[in-house]
Amino acid sequence: MSVDERLVQTIVQKVMANMQITGEVTGMHGVFKDMNDAIAASIEAQKKVRLMTLDQREKIISVIREKVHRNAELLANMGVNETGMGNVGDKILKHHLTAEKTPGTEDISTIAWSGDRGLTLVEMGPFGVIGAITPATNPSETVICNCIGMLAGGNTVVFNPHPNAKKTTIFTINMINEASLEAGGPDNIAVTVEEPTLDSSAVMMKHPAIHLLVATGGPGVVTAVLSSGKRAIGAGAGNPPVLVDETADLRKAAQDIINGCTFDNNLPCIAEKEIVAVDSIADELMHYIIAENGGYLADKEVIQRLADTVLTPKGTLNRQCVGRSAKDLLAMVGVEAGADVRCIVFEGEKEHPLISEELMMPILGMVRVKDFHEGVETALWLEHGNRHSAHIHSKNVDHITEYAKALDTAILVKNGPSYAALGFGGEGYCTFTIASRTGEGLTSAQTFTKRRRCTMSDSLCIR
Ligand code: NAD
Repeated sequence: MSVDERLVQTIVQKVMANMQITGEVTGMHGVFKDMNDAIAASIEAQKKVRLMTLDQREKIISVIREKVHRNAELLANMGVNETGMGNVGDKILKHHLTAEKTPGTEDISTIAWSGDRGLTLVEMGPFGVIGAITPATNPSETVICNCIGMLAGGNTVVFNPHPNAKKTTIFTINMINEASLEAGGPDNIAVTVEEPTLDSSAVMMKHPAIHLLVATGGPGVVTAVLSSGKRAIGAGAGNPPVLVDETADLRKAAQDIINGCTFDNNLPCIAEKEIVAVDSIADELMHYIIAENGGYLADKEVIQRLADTVLTPKGTLNRQCVGRSAKDLLAMVGVEAGADVRCIVFEGEKEHPLISEELMMPILGMVRVKDFHEGVETALWLEHGNRHSAHIHSKNVDHITEYAKALDTAILVKNGPSYAALGFGGEGYCTFTIASRTGEGLTSAQTFTKRRRCTMSDSLCIR
């Protein structure tokens, strides 16, 4: 550990310990004991944000970006320390990515029609106070993306974060409010409660002042917001397959797949969760994965021990294993792996639980198929109708097109690692809220606005 790393660790431990000792987080901006008080503060902040110009919103956003860059290491350490998931190096990159590539007010645009009968505009206006539920897997990253996009859209936001990530979330929300105050904006542009629970979440979902709910998490929470009777954006679970056909650049495919799969120990919902490989190239692909990319080929016995460890007898995920490294997972089943091991790989049937379940850990099963068409059917089955993410390595445009149409997902990465879809080594903007279930796709400021038509009859057309 370098001197800098030790310093960050010491700061993280102090921040976390301080939160533990007091049992509450007094002195933090935007943090309340009671959800109703948090919402009341958000309503007050919303009245001020509503009067702000786009330029003023953008000023706050630029201070948020600066603070995220400056605190990336601290936030990454806090997330890993608190949740026990992911790895610090990749989380640092994720924070810089959110600061750089989450769209701000430039994402808000106006549609206009002008002609003989006047001028009509469609403008993107705020919903007001938004209720957001965030996951343990990307806790601060999701809060940062949501805050930038929601504020750019003119909203304030109430968070009910995952209880296992509450300290990291509270720290992030405090930082967001400090940014607002520094830029001359109001306090409480983002708020939360000290102890987020299902009850506080229910209060938030039912509150009459909240007109839009945004849930980022597994199937349970998305179903909960969609059953609320309110407008809801659901960014739900995935199980992204990556299909490799006989035309792919296999050496590059192996590298991209392992890079994507192991990023932050496989926590991102878009990350490669299983390979579907055409028989004629499957062995060569596996060779590159093992020989050049830190793949550990697990035998049947190790795979059985892993299945018994990472899944409970009921078939649900053992949370202790989610987001852990391949080395840690192997150690849990008595295998000592070298530092170069990045991913556990094996070949199996699509029904194997380590292949069909969304594991969120670097265990990558490969399903062998006789040809591309069987590959599409297999990938479709493995994606479980989430319509979330799927990836492909192929040089055949017809294959790519057929796969994209069949899988019908919010994200489809071709010939690259999955994280290219988040703008990391790929074009486009970043978000950690991918609205797969409700169809908005990669959310941004405009997703958090409502369309308002403003018509001037018979005037203001100056053509
Ligand atoms: P999780 O579903 O356990 O929790 C997510 C959030 O929902 C937490 O804040 C939790 O407290 C809350 N929650 C859960 N059930 C609820 C209910 N019935 N009512 C109200 N709130 C409820 O998920 P997690 O382990 O934190 O995150 C991993 C899951 O989230 C994976 O399935 C992953 O694919 C998904 N995810 C999706 C996206 C996306 O953008 N689509 C992003 C990140 C994570």
